[in-house]
Amino acid sequence: MQIHERIYIVGSGDSGFGISHDLDCTVYLIDGDGEYALIDAGAGVEPESILHNIKAAGIHPAQISGIFLTHGHGDHSGGAFVLSRACQAEVYALRETAEYVSEGNLKAIALEEAIRAGVYGKGYTFHACPVRPILEDTSVQVGDIRLNVYRMEGHCSGHACYEMIWQGKKIVFSGDCIFNYGKIALQAIWDCDLQKYIESCKRLEEIHPDVLLPAHGAFLMSRGYTYIEKAMRKIRGLGIPDNLIGE
Ligand SMILES: [Zn+2]
Repeated sequence: MQIHERIYIVGSGDSGFGISHDLDCTVYLIDGDGEYALIDAGAGVEPESILHNIKAAGIHPAQISGIFLTHGHGDHSGGAFVLSRACQAEVYALRETAEYVSEGNLKAIALEEAIRAGVYGKGYTFHACPVRPILEDTSVQVGDIRLNVYRMEGHCSGHACYEMIWQGKKIVFSGDCIFNYGKIALQAIWDCDLQKYIESCKRLEEIHPDVLLPAHGAFLMSRGYTYIEKAMRKIRGLGIPDNLIGE
């Protein structure tokens, strides 16, 4: 599903557009003029449906050189093992996420709680996957596209947002940091942190994205900053932005 001259959605479950397994976050594919990268990898229950969507877009998986994880939660990183092998692509994430996913540290990615809470079926199996650490406030090249890496914690530790600039427009892949209508995703897990969340919202406000592409739900192809302004209005009033979790 092409949403921009250089961006496709190739995975998305029932919290998004229903084009792959229900558990999958929205998986974006960036076109760096023939060299491609994925943002997130889905849950890994039916990764073949993501591969099918990549091929249906006329792209060969071998053209994908990198998979960039926003964070380690299963619905984002569980597909990395199969997809990285199918694409022969490296997987990258901030240091903490790289450790958790490489080790298959289910406690760190709060998978046991998520299974208990019924987010994943009891039979869900997480596949650990080697992940290379990348540093925040650096950038990586995907073909002719430069991808800027930001540390945006609050939802969990080691959470990154990625930014590409295309024809002067700032396009931000916000992972589970901020969603449609300025919602955030606070969860009762060990590494969710409201203060860090507020700092991330402030940083996103400074970035002022034109296009905002969250990992669940609707996205904005223009005036992406309006979602962030909604969250910041609540924060400035000493409130907490509406929570996507538990709706
Ligand atoms: Zn998450």
